[in-house]
Amino acid sequence: MESEKCIFCKIARRDLDANIVKESDNFIAFRDANPVTEGHTLIIPKKHFVTLLDMPNKLGEEMLKIVKGVSGELMDQGLADGFNVLNNNLEVAGQSVMHAHVHIIPRKEGDGVKIFH
Ligand code: 5GP
Ligand code: ZN
Repeated sequence: MESEKCIFCKIARRDLDANIVKESDNFIAFRDANPVTEGHTLIIPKKHFVTLLDMPNKLGEEMLKIVKGVSGELMDQGLADGFNVLNNNLEVAGQSVMHAHVHIIPRKEGDGVKIFH
């Protein structure tokens, strides 16, 4: 169910501004408003699913393709020497926006980022 109030649905509908870097039929990729490192990007399904468990398996290949596309570009652009792919599901796991999303976090030597803490 698409939510009127969901900020990621608004971004997908272009009702809310975001720095969109990539799009496919069912996904959109945009820079995180509070980046952990430069280039930190979120990938969301255009349809409103709350967690990964709600997403149909048939979107898996397309999701992997856009995850790889964004990550490869961050590497090519020199923003990343490596990257973390992170997906938080539900509040206890740190999900703050209840629209499924995958974080791509560019990493560099000595960046001091601690993913699990
Ligand atoms: P979560 O903690 O749910 O895994 O991650 C949600 C992410 O969404 C956070 O990293 C947060 O900075 C980002 N975020 C929240 N609101 C907005 C917004 O309006 N625009 C963008 N671009 N990112 C947002
Ligand atoms: Zn939504």
